[in-house]
Formats: sequence, structure tokens, C-alpha cells
Amino acid sequence: MGMQINIGDHVSPQAGYAAIPNEYLGSMRWARTKARWIASNIQSANAFFRTLPDGRSLTDLLDDSSIWINYHATMPYYGETNRVSGKEIAISRMAFRIGRWTVLATLVHELAHADGAPGGADKQAERAVLACKLGKQSELDTGIDDPYTPFNPNISG
Ligand SMILES: [Zn+2]
Repeated sequence: MGMQINIGDHVSPQAGYAAIPNEYLGSMRWARTKARWIASNIQSANAFFRTLPDGRSLTDLLDDSSIWINYHATMPYYGETNRVSGKEIAISRMAFRIGRWTVLATLVHELAHADGAPGGADKQAERAVLACKLGKQSELDTGIDDPYTPFNPNISG
């Protein structure tokens, strides 16, 4: 079964984490399918995830049916994981409104937190987005964000 999308069949213990609205389910399912494709086809993805504090690969996380993807209607950023190494992830309305590639990048970023990436000043969670080839190495090297990729080299946390 693997990582689960909350379609109204899960009550998150985290306040504000809700079922994904119908209008966004297509984007969410596309992002999960694309994440699985990345895990199978882009070797740097699993390799990077294994370097994170909990040492799990992206494939391991996507196969983990205790991880739930929820929705958040009002948070003023793209996503959140309930805690470092947590199992409850929320993707925000803000991310869904931008589009499915942003949803995908947010999913990857939050799965890195589920794998122990600490947040705060740390940049490992967003580096996972680059390891999934959702950005350019030149963005990391120069620190200049290319708005046509979902990776942002300046995001910490
Ligand atoms: Zn983060």
C-alpha cells in the first residue's frame, strides 16, 4: 500500500491537518506516482535520502503505510511535517495553487524531514529536492534560484 494520502479516511492527531480536497487529489496522486518514478529511476534520490539522519531511502519512505499526507488550508508556507522523523505531513493550499511540480517538491522536502532532516538553519530537506533532479546544480553553486525549477537553494528549514 505504501505512504497514504488522506482522502477523508484518516484523522490526523495534528491540529489543522485535514483530508486533501477533491479538487487537489489529482495533483497529489500525480506527485506520489512521480515520486515513485524518481525513486526507481534517479539513483541520486535514494542515495541522498540514505545519508539523512534516519538513513531510510526514498523508496523505504514511499513504501511506509504509516506515513500520511494531509492538507492544510491556511499555513503560509508549502508544507510541514509534524516533527523531525514524524509520520504526519501536511501540504498546503498555497502549494496546490502553484501546481503539481511544487506539490511534488514539497512532498520530497517533507519526506526528508520524515527521514530525520532537522530543519531550522539546516538545508538538507531542500537538498533532497535537488537530489531528485527537481533543480539544477548551478542553482546550488551560485545560490541564485531559477524560478522555473521547484528547487530553491536559499530555503532552509
Ligand atoms: Zn523543511
